[in-house]
Amino acid sequence: MYDVVIVGGGPAGLSAALILGRCRRSVLLLDAGTPRNAASPRTWGLYTRDGTAPGALREQARADLERYPSVACRTTDVWRARRMGDGFAVECDDGRIEQARRLILATGLRQDLPDIEGFDTYWGRGVHTCPYCDGYENRDHPLVAYGSGQAGLGLALELIVWSRDVTLCTDGRADGLSAPDRDRLARNGIAVAEGGVARLTGDGIRAEGLVFGDGTSRPCRAVFLTPGGNHPSPLIAQLGCDLSAKGTVPTGAYESTNVPGLYVAGDASRRVQFAVVAAAEGAMAAFAINTELLKAEAA
Ligand SMILES: Cc1cc2nc3c(=O)[nH]c(=O)nc-3n(C[C@H](O)[C@H](O)[C@H](O)COP(=O)(O)OP(=O)(O)OC[C@H]3O[C@@H](n4cnc5c(N)ncnc54)[C@H](O)[C@@H]3O)c2cc1C
Repeated sequence: MYDVVIVGGGPAGLSAALILGRCRRSVLLLDAGTPRNAASPRTWGLYTRDGTAPGALREQARADLERYPSVACRTTDVWRARRMGDGFAVECDDGRIEQARRLILATGLRQDLPDIEGFDTYWGRGVHTCPYCDGYENRDHPLVAYGSGQAGLGLALELIVWSRDVTLCTDGRADGLSAPDRDRLARNGIAVAEGGVARLTGDGIRAEGLVFGDGTSRPCRAVFLTPGGNHPSPLIAQLGCDLSAKGTVPTGAYESTNVPGLYVAGDASRRVQFAVVAAAEGAMAAFAINTELLKAEAA
């Protein structure tokens, strides 16, 4: 029986393990090794580590954990989680069942890409989800907001922070825009392309153009996707945890959930999806768990 099992070894899980290790808690971190940003060459906007490769961040964080003998890490997929008495049991792909007094799910999100030729090739290098993460490197180049309705409108307007050459691409869907929405886009110099997209082209390293089904094309250095196509870990539903319509967990104070003893941190919870925020959420969950365990121990 560990004090805490953490499922997920991205910024949220690794940061939680670090704080709990420093509290001398027995911790088992289980990670499948499939982070959402694996395709991305750099992590931007991370305090003191701006532009560091995601893999290097994880390696450093794992190395930091070696200082703490009460923390163990294992590479395995957790396929099932359930309540067991006041604690939790998790079942791993390697056949082992682990138990803990508290559980942190730091499982991130799994992302589906639109099924368009070239999107998977340039994922993380020319197809992005977050302009705060990848807008700056693509500044002043032709940018595409891929989406429709109010989400597409909002994303297209957001992109003018980074470039004045922005197209809203609805890919053949009803755009869901009112006349005032269209006026607002026009006032801000944003073009609307409503045709279906055939493919994203480039030189293999950089995206260069978006080609439409009718054979026309537009220059495009980067496509930004509106939120959607994100899948939470099935463990969240298995434990009876609430989920928002966006597939994230509406956590309360210190990343607590509606399930006593269960914490959800990082992209899997509701807040801004930055590495630094995921790490902070992991630290908050760790703080709350240590405080909770101490209350029982020092009653
Ligand atoms: C393409 C891309 C680029 C990005 N660029 C930036 C950037 O430049 N700057 C920035 O701040 N943020 C960036 N982000 C966002 C950032 O990557 C996330 O906010 C951050 O990684 C979230 O951390 P996390 O720990 O919640 O999840 P993740 O980093 O996704 O880690 C989750 C971990 O949990 C594991 N896991 C999931 N389910 C299980 C299971 N059942 N059993 C065992 N392990 C499991 C996964 O294998 C994975 O290792 C980017 C995201 C993407 C998609």
